Amino acid sequence: MTEAVVNGTVDNGYALVNPAGHHALPETGLGFCIFNNVAVAVRHAQAELGIERIAIVDWDVHHGNGAQAIFGEDPSVLTVSLHQDRCFPPNSGLVTDRGTGAGHGYNINIPMPVGTRDGGYQYAAQTVIGPALEAFAPELVLVASGFDPNAMDPLARQLVTTRGFITLTETVMAAADRSAQGRLVLVQEGGYSPVYVPFCGLATIETLAGVHVLDDAILPVVGGMGGHDLEPHQKALVDLVAEHVTDVHHP
Ligand SMILES: [Zn+2]
Repeated sequence: MTEAVVNGTVDNGYALVNPAGHHALPETGLGFCIFNNVAVAVRHAQAELGIERIAIVDWDVHHGNGAQAIFGEDPSVLTVSLHQDRCFPPNSGLVTDRGTGAGHGYNINIPMPVGTRDGGYQYAAQTVIGPALEAFAPELVLVASGFDPNAMDPLARQLVTTRGFITLTETVMAAADRSAQGRLVLVQEGGYSPVYVPFCGLATIETLAGVHVLDDAILPVVGGMGGHDLEPHQKALVDLVAEHVTDVHHP
């Protein structure tokens, strides 16, 4: 998929792979993950496809600890993880984990409070993810695309609807258009609600493809419950992380 996107065979792509990969470390699997699929794509693109600067955006509800561990010292790979605060791995993905050595500043964690809804996700996308990608100017954008922030997921406590996933997708598409000639690959990670994950996945792929096929049948329920606005404690967390974006530069 990454080769097809880099070569221009397709505009963007969604790799519907299983098992997930974003918890996997170089020496061992973790969580439900065996191999870190996105990390393999990054190193393949750098080694074989002539791409130097790559951004990874991880919106799985659990921390993208694998990429943080693998690329933490590497300023050629910007890693941004938007996840639920201290969900999995335990105590992983803190705001203060910012990369080490030459990679300092190129690992950004956004540990959203439990119960964050579309408004909080939209604010994080607009305030941190978009500006960080703009500052870094990647040549390729990869996304660890988990749908487990969804409002019906049994393995987390966030309340995101298809509206949130559409915003995230639009954010990375805009970033890829700015600096990467649109080169964008989403790679499937988690997502455990058999009822809602299919709608979240479809909405994401519809956004990538620029088409609309099917309405979200669950949205009138989960989206109509109210309380989707940004809340002060969520804004405070995102604003704290946003201060770190100024450390991201075009290397
Ligand atoms: Zn997950």
